[in-house]
Amino acid sequence: MTDVLIAGSGPTGLTLACELALSGAAVRVIEGRTAPHRESRGKGLWPSSLGVLERLGVAEPLTAIGSSEVVLRKYFDGAHVNDTPMPGTGLLIGQWQIEEALRDRLAGLGVQVEYGSRLAGITQDAAGVRAELADGTAIAAGYLAGCDGGRSTTRRLLGIPFEGSGEEEPAMVVGDVRAPGLSRDFWHQWFTSEGGGILLCPMPGTDTFQLQAAPEQDEAGGLLPPSLESFQRLFDRHARMPGIRLADATWLSAWRVNVRMATRIREGRVFLAGDAAHVHPIAGGLGMNTGIQDAAALGRTLTAALAGQAGEEALDAYGAERLPVAAEVLADTSRRYERVLAAVRTPGRGTEAGLD
Ligand SMILES: Cc1cc2nc3c(=O)[nH]c(=O)nc-3n(C[C@H](O)[C@H](O)[C@H](O)COP(=O)(O)OP(=O)(O)OC[C@H]3O[C@@H](n4cnc5c(N)ncnc54)[C@H](O)[C@@H]3O)c2cc1C
Repeated sequence: MTDVLIAGSGPTGLTLACELALSGAAVRVIEGRTAPHRESRGKGLWPSSLGVLERLGVAEPLTAIGSSEVVLRKYFDGAHVNDTPMPGTGLLIGQWQIEEALRDRLAGLGVQVEYGSRLAGITQDAAGVRAELADGTAIAAGYLAGCDGGRSTTRRLLGIPFEGSGEEEPAMVVGDVRAPGLSRDFWHQWFTSEGGGILLCPMPGTDTFQLQAAPEQDEAGGLLPPSLESFQRLFDRHARMPGIRLADATWLSAWRVNVRMATRIREGRVFLAGDAAHVHPIAGGLGMNTGIQDAAALGRTLTAALAGQAGEEALDAYGAERLPVAAEVLADTSRRYERVLAAVRTPGRGTEAGLD
């Protein structure tokens, strides 16, 4: 019998899986993707999350790769204005590398992520949960943790509202690219008086940069989807470095502002954690970090429940602890995002405005 079934193998699901496997629980992790991704996505660990990963025995490979001293190089209208060290004592590292380290740790504990396994249905009673997968197979478990991201199937199946607001149009195009000839000693941030900008952050342990930019517009003002060609045109317009040609886009995506949270994160024996429970602006780099903290809290709750030490009240304590945190993160990151948007109109200011 599976004690806890985890849907989703992002940073939240993998952290929870390590927590539970270390406490001796029988865990399974199902993942809709057919293989791990290599996308930089959430690229920063703050000290409190590093503390969780340290306790799980995962911090060492990450600190060996990641950078703790990051310098932001700011340009305005193509001219270099200043360099500032990134405030705080975080670790710059790609999300895929964090997931890889967690997966390796989990494999060492005897648990393999089950790829190509998509949660599609949930039924539960007082004794346990039955999860149906898209291929028609079923898994019985004591508890189910929905760590399946912002479009969470778990949340939808439970009928839990995801309240808040969202924008239709992307605010940013993002991706991973190479930029041969561009210094890897700086997180380059170009802004322009006409508006918009482009950021290229060197990702440790790779030869790629994470690119973030205001989307390109066509003649009618419509937003163009992310592509290497569009990235190059944006780079040429804002960076004005004709010698640099972007190459090998291994990830292309568009990011929309969404500020939403689940109205509850427990329904009987099923829980929500990470982006499945809350989504918000990326300013401040708190999304993955908050998911890791959710996973640590849920790990404690479920470990107590499996030991027969948690009644209804203790199971509800997870929501009582994490929902106010999620509400505060939504408000805080929205303020940080507004600060960044305002700050970058001033030469010499960049994303550090979101970390003040
Ligand atoms: C450009 C960018 C920059 C960012 N920067 C930062 C940062 O600096 N710091 C930070 O903390 N955060 C950052 N974030 C946010 C961060 O990426 C997310 O908050 C994080 O990925 C959430 O992790 P998660 O595990 O909760 O969800 P996800 O990473 O979305 O993982 C969910 C997993 O569930 C799987 N899944 C979905 N449906 C099912 C199903 N039905 N059955 C089984 N599996 C399923 C998905 O395939 C996926 O693997 C950034 C995001 C972007 C896009």
